[in-house]
Amino acid sequence: MIIKPRIKGFVCITSHPLGCLANLRDQVAVASRSKIECERKPKRVLVIGSSTGYGLASRVTAAFSAGADTMGVYFERPPKEEKTASAGYYNSAAFCKLAGEAGLSAVDVNGDAFSTECKEEVVKKAKETGGAFDLVVYSLASPRRTDPVDGKTYRACLKPIGAIYKNKTLDTDRKEVKEVTIDPANEQEVADTQKVMGGEDWEAWTDLLLAEGLMAPGCLNLAYSYIGPEVTWPIYRNGTIGKAKEHLENSAAALTEKMKLAGCGNAYVSVNKAVVTQASSAIPVVPLYVSMLFKIMEELGTHEGCIEQTCRLFKDRLYGETEEVPVDEKNRIRLDDWEMEPDVQRKIVELWPRVCSENLLELTSFAKYQEEFLSLFGFGHASVDYEAEVDQENPF
Ligand code: NAD
Repeated sequence: MIIKPRIKGFVCITSHPLGCLANLRDQVAVASRSKIECERKPKRVLVIGSSTGYGLASRVTAAFSAGADTMGVYFERPPKEEKTASAGYYNSAAFCKLAGEAGLSAVDVNGDAFSTECKEEVVKKAKETGGAFDLVVYSLASPRRTDPVDGKTYRACLKPIGAIYKNKTLDTDRKEVKEVTIDPANEQEVADTQKVMGGEDWEAWTDLLLAEGLMAPGCLNLAYSYIGPEVTWPIYRNGTIGKAKEHLENSAAALTEKMKLAGCGNAYVSVNKAVVTQASSAIPVVPLYVSMLFKIMEELGTHEGCIEQTCRLFKDRLYGETEEVPVDEKNRIRLDDWEMEPDVQRKIVELWPRVCSENLLELTSFAKYQEEFLSLFGFGHASVDYEAEVDQENPF
C-alpha cells in the first residue's frame, strides 16, 4: 500500500508503520540519553495502556533508561487486507523490535484491559516470563468500559457539571477558533465517567497482582492524571472527567495501604503536563490551550513531550538520588510543575481573550500541534518516504 493520512474529526483512520517505527527510534534515543543509574531502578515493568501517549513513553523509558524487561497491555486494531493497523499496534510492534535488538524482553497482551480474560492472560504470561513486577504503570484512556462484575458497558463523557459551558475552542480541521456550548452532565453521566476513568479498575488490577504475588517487594504503582489551567476547569477539572480523576487520585492511598501489607512500595498518581495524544485531541478547548502552551513553553525552553516527561518522572522523581518521592500536599507527583508556573499561566490568561482564527498561527504553535497530531499516526517523519509502497501487514 501507499499510505496517506485520512483524518476524520479528531482521529486519523490510517497510520504509517515506518513512521511509527521512526517515532519509536526517536523516543528510544531520548530515553537512552537519560540513563538511570540508581540501584532501585525497576527490572520488570508492567504498563497497562502501553501503545500510545504516556503509557508508550513510560514503557520506552522503563526499557531504555532503566534497562527493564517490560510487559505491555493495550487494545489495538491489527492490519487486515487493504487496511492499516492502528498506530498503537505498529508502535507496539516497533517497540518489541527495538527492545529485542537491545536484548530486552518485551511481552505484549492485546486485549480489553477492563476484562477478566485480559487480566488472566497478563497473570499467566507474567508467571511464564519472569514473575513479579517492580513497577506497574496504569495509563488507560478509554471512552468506555464493560464492567466484568455486572456485564454493563459504561460510557465516559466530557461535560461540565452544574452549568452550561461556553468558551472558545479550536476546530482543528478548519483551523477556526469558534465558540463551543456544552450542556451539563446529569448524575448518571458523572457516575458513568467515574466508572470508566476513575480508580476502580486500577484497584482491580492492583488486587489481582497482589493476590497472584506479582508485585515484588518495594514495587511502585503509578497512574496518571491532569489538572490544567483555570480556562479549562469547567470542562476538565470541575467536569465529569475531573471528577473521575479525583476518584483515581483518592484511590492511591487505599492502594498504598494494601501494597504495604505485601511489602511493596507506594501507589502514586502523577499529574502530567498537557501533550498531544489521541485522548487529549478529543477534549474540547484542549487543542487550543495546548497550541498556546507549546508556544509559551518553547519560548521559555521548557517544552516537553510525553517521552521527556516520563524520563524526568523516572530520573528525578521515582528513581532519584533519595528514596523519597517528592509529592504535593495531596500526595501527588507534579510533573506539570513547568506548565503551571505562574509566568506561563499569566501568559495564557493574557492570550486567551485575544486569540481568533485570523491570528491563530501568529499567537499559538498550532502548526506544531498539527505536526504532532499527524506524527501520532506515523506521518510527517523526515526519514520516511511516504510515496513508497509498504507491506502494511508485515512492515518490519
Ligand atoms: P492515549 O490515548 O495516547 O493512550 C491510551 C492507552 O490506553 C493506549 O495504549 C490504548 O491502547 C489503551 N487503552 C484504551 N482502552 C483500552 C482497553 N479497554 N484495554 C486496554 N488498553 C486500552 O492517552 P494518553 O493521553 O497517553 O493518556 C494516558 C493517561 O495519561 C490518562 O490517564 C490521561 O488522563 C493521562 N494524562 C494525559 C495528558 C495529555 O495531555 N494527554 C495529560 C496528563 C495526564
